[in-house]
Amino acid sequence: MPLQAERGAESKPPVSYLFTNVRVLTLDADDTEYAAIDVHVSDGIIAAIGTALPRESGVDVIDGTGKLLMPGLVNGHFHSPGTFNKAAFASMPLEIFMLYEVPPFDCPPVSPRLDHVRTLLGAVEMLKGGITTVHDDPFYVPAVGMSRIDAVLSAYRSAGIRATVSINMPNLVEYEKYPFLGDLLPEAVRRRMQQAALLPGDELIALYRAYIERWHGVDAGRLRASVSCSAPQRVTPDYLGALSDLSAEFDLPYNMHILETRLQRVLGDVRFGKSLIRYVHDQGVLDERSVIIHAIWVDADDLDLMAASGCAVAHNPICNLRLGSGVMPFRAIAERGITICLGSDELCSDDTVNMWSVMKQAALVHNIADPDYRRWPSAAEILRCGTTNGARAMRLDSLTGSIEVGKQADLVLIDLDSLTFTPLNDVRRHLIFCETGTDIRLVMVGGRIVVKDGQVLTVNETDLKQEVRELMVEYAAQFREVDQWVAELEPVYRQMYERAVRHELALNRWIG
Ligand SMILES: [Zn+2]
Repeated sequence: MPLQAERGAESKPPVSYLFTNVRVLTLDADDTEYAAIDVHVSDGIIAAIGTALPRESGVDVIDGTGKLLMPGLVNGHFHSPGTFNKAAFASMPLEIFMLYEVPPFDCPPVSPRLDHVRTLLGAVEMLKGGITTVHDDPFYVPAVGMSRIDAVLSAYRSAGIRATVSINMPNLVEYEKYPFLGDLLPEAVRRRMQQAALLPGDELIALYRAYIERWHGVDAGRLRASVSCSAPQRVTPDYLGALSDLSAEFDLPYNMHILETRLQRVLGDVRFGKSLIRYVHDQGVLDERSVIIHAIWVDADDLDLMAASGCAVAHNPICNLRLGSGVMPFRAIAERGITICLGSDELCSDDTVNMWSVMKQAALVHNIADPDYRRWPSAAEILRCGTTNGARAMRLDSLTGSIEVGKQADLVLIDLDSLTFTPLNDVRRHLIFCETGTDIRLVMVGGRIVVKDGQVLTVNETDLKQEVRELMVEYAAQFREVDQWVAELEPVYRQMYERAVRHELALNRWIG
């Protein structure tokens, strides 16, 4: 596969850097900060933090005067396959939206090159915005194979971002994933859905093992595997359990979208007679490696189970608003001690992959959920959600997420001599409420400079954008067929959605 657009393929040997006289937010356990200090990076690691550190020969000195050094942002939930669909769709509920995203009929796969290029495009946008670590949960339409996995992972390798990547591959027929849908669909449509490719759980587990062998820990541990069931109602119970066993065997995070929508709460009621959180608990797969994505329509019983399990929650506030899913009970989750990380989700449901806007939204939306303003999220709390908590949810907190000696040098250098920070009041509030990413001067991942002065150094962005436009011809042609399917299926899915809306529930996560 030609990689002419990716200079990062020829990785240079690690260099030693010395940030001098720089303001530092470490986000360590004591929330240590320094008004002016030196930070030495060597062999990819933060080697020393101190005053007037020696300028050894061969060290590259970076003057940090008037700048802030902070840990790189962690995008705790992302789907790279959505990247070509930014701003493509009107706002609509998840259950209709997914018809575009994961068409329920058999269709030809996109080329591995397209998988590769769209992953690279998302990675470049992330790096330029100060995201040094991403947890990607790519889904594959119509089915996954190693060439497509290679396409995604090699893109992250070239971009130079730290990436943990799952395989999101449901293995149930479309209408089995929803309440009421099987009854509402015409028989001919049901038969057509049955013909869509499905991989049995044991084949998927075999593929996971080959994937882990091939990619887990590559590039000094920068690329890692995680597992994903997509959502518990989308897979067979056997596969749900087998993924949990794999997660335990290799200590991998386990991605599960749970109670993102009201309809999913209804599904739990009518399909399992219990909440989907109670369902995964009863299946024995809710534990400290679980990353519960969304957790909006959870009740107090669910939260108790989650807190006891030690799981983390990935909160995606912009996606949740874009798809009208509801508002996650932030404080009820946080006060139980459950780790909350933040995600942009995907580019067809956020439309950017900008963690600054995700953090700002997370810091704002919960203010309208509780009249007690003492329980509203603080800027400092949200900053941790976007950094250290993301690392913890990915089981990487011993490696990254804060500036501490011995940790990976995953760093962002921000210009404080900018309109964003002038006049400078509370630096954390500036980062959450004012910064959009425009004041980033340098981004480093594992001690390697990947962005400098607004330019990504690992990928030729001009060539990349040109190739994206060329590939969009192939992609748009394929998408025209999906558009026709959606036109056919949307009225039936809307009936399902409306029936779920009429189904009474004891809780509400919508405003108004
Ligand atoms: Zn998601």
